[in-house]
Amino acid sequence: MTDTNPGAVPRRAPFEPPSRAGCEMALLRLLPRALPPLAGALARPCCGRPLHRAAPAPAPAPAPAAPDFNSFVTRTNTCGELRSAHVGQEVTLYGWIQYQRQGLFLVLRDFQGLTQIIIPQDEAHSHVKKLLSNAPVESVVRVTGIVSPRPPGQENPKMPTGDIEVKAETAEILNSCKKLPFEIKDFIKKSEALRMQYRYLDLRGFQLQYNLRLRSQIVMRMREYLCNLHGFVDVETPTLFKRTPGGAKEFLVPSREAGKFYSLPQSPQQFKQLLMVGGLDRYFQVARCYRDEGSRPDRQPEFTQIDIEMSFVDQAGIQRLIEGLLQYSWPEERGCITTPFPSMTYEEALADYGTDKPDTRFGMKIVDISDFVRKLDIQFVQNALSFPRSSVKAICIPQGVRYFKNKDLESLKESAKSQFNQEIMEIICRPDGSLKSVLTKFLGEKQQSELIQVLNMQVDDVVLLAAGEHKQVCSALGSLRLESADLLEAAGLVLRDPTTFHFLWVVDFPLFLPKEENPTELESAHHPFTAPHPSDTSLLYCDPTKVRSQHYDLVLNGSEVGGGSIRIHSAEQQRFVLEKVLKEDSEVLSHLLEALEFGAPPHGGIALGLDRLISLIVNAPSIRDVIAFPKSFRGRDLMGSAPDYVSPEELEPYHIQVSWPLAEKEAKQN
Ligand code: ASP
Repeated sequence: MTDTNPGAVPRRAPFEPPSRAGCEMALLRLLPRALPPLAGALARPCCGRPLHRAAPAPAPAPAPAAPDFNSFVTRTNTCGELRSAHVGQEVTLYGWIQYQRQGLFLVLRDFQGLTQIIIPQDEAHSHVKKLLSNAPVESVVRVTGIVSPRPPGQENPKMPTGDIEVKAETAEILNSCKKLPFEIKDFIKKSEALRMQYRYLDLRGFQLQYNLRLRSQIVMRMREYLCNLHGFVDVETPTLFKRTPGGAKEFLVPSREAGKFYSLPQSPQQFKQLLMVGGLDRYFQVARCYRDEGSRPDRQPEFTQIDIEMSFVDQAGIQRLIEGLLQYSWPEERGCITTPFPSMTYEEALADYGTDKPDTRFGMKIVDISDFVRKLDIQFVQNALSFPRSSVKAICIPQGVRYFKNKDLESLKESAKSQFNQEIMEIICRPDGSLKSVLTKFLGEKQQSELIQVLNMQVDDVVLLAAGEHKQVCSALGSLRLESADLLEAAGLVLRDPTTFHFLWVVDFPLFLPKEENPTELESAHHPFTAPHPSDTSLLYCDPTKVRSQHYDLVLNGSEVGGGSIRIHSAEQQRFVLEKVLKEDSEVLSHLLEALEFGAPPHGGIALGLDRLISLIVNAPSIRDVIAFPKSFRGRDLMGSAPDYVSPEELEPYHIQVSWPLAEKEAKQN
């Protein structure tokens, strides 16, 4: 519920699908790792331990134990498994035909790799030759044959199985493939709509195989860490429930009781809190959540959270837990992540980066030059500074003159104007060190060099300057910072290396924010169950706008990948927030309010957005690349055409009639 500014999600470098050989290698590295030793991890905690006992360092690298991919099935090996050591063995492989060349050989593919099959040419095997030579690409076949070394000079070092080939003895076409809508090759570009319509074919590609298998492994490691090392309990909570006040729009599900609807939960928030009241004091769930918000590159109507709640914990305790969890489940091939993660207050994030989810992989931070400007005798600047909370701020784009064209600068200014109603002034540092800007005619030489100093400008730098209300100025410059990074990257610079991972905690959010549609009313910055910051509790009752909260967000490379809070566990305080501050009908939450009166423990939690986290780990351009069956931008399943019409008869038990928009009604009648 925290995402207030999704538009600020930075565009990442274009997705380069790994080469097929690279993907095969990566898939091979994906063999699940053995469970770490549990001794010690399950030992009872001793008395007198410090608060926030640090999570144990991730278990020492466990010995890899390859799973048995061939158990229960009739193949002897997978298509990625055979090596020189298998030479001479008779093997049975099952897979899809990737290539077939002139009736001489074919390449068989499964999830683990590729194996070259030699089609026999002798008379005795003529039926095998006929079968394999005529089978269309992507047909699924069984081949039994003898593993042989490839002739000298014909080895393929790019293929893990490149030293061998299998001489087919017998073969069977298990299902022939009709003409494909697209080639099953990662490097072949195809429209996303077509990929979604034939998702089961798209899933055969190495990249999606890799993404989904990596996702499965990370979740497995998370389960190990939470359940086996830290005593969490995996509890499933209902997905048919009722409306939660505030936050995102929820999907409704009709019921057979006239006029009554279920809601699909936007998160298991209420249930996880009720589990704490129920004494299940360490809960987690790989939870499906629903928000009726349409899709974007980093969100879709249904998504998955690693949902966590604990009793008797504070903010630092949750943060250490998540750092340990991520470190433990982090894929080896993505390098190491170091903990603890750095932390920044919401105010700092806004002031320095203009957003609550800063991408800290690059600089170009916002600089406040109000003090310098205040000294100048320039009327329009003084006017801008005369309003409450007004400031003059700037970002400096190193070497902007070299990389930006005039039209780029114009489009940056235009974007600040259209998105934030913010005027932008540019300052350019010429090769001779002088400044070019509308400001300069008001500045003496000394003031110019002072300005160069406060802005830390070098020759050929471009500064974008904004004056006005603090939050508006920061948000506009924060957005220009990201747009400038896009432009610099388009010109060939690397600012946001997708292979480095910058985690960041953002803390001390305001508890309430003015509603966008009506700024005189307040809404929760996170959700209505978030507790006030202990040092601001008294302000809750006199000036709620000033209260900071115990809400924390986890940011990775400029994307919010998690958020949570310490909760209100007093019924009285919760009722006050709902009724007096948020002006919500607390009756909808009477069950929760009542539960808080029955000895509810202090508690807090967090949810990690699993789809977004995995998409950043694998550097995918969209969360749809890490979801097996994603929804389109308009929230549709293009494969099965959901949502779909239902007949009036089917609607009758739900006491529902469709009121068709006129255009659709006419279209249906014609
Ligand atoms: N339920 C919250 C969310 O989905 C996370 C939390 O507060 O634990 O944003």
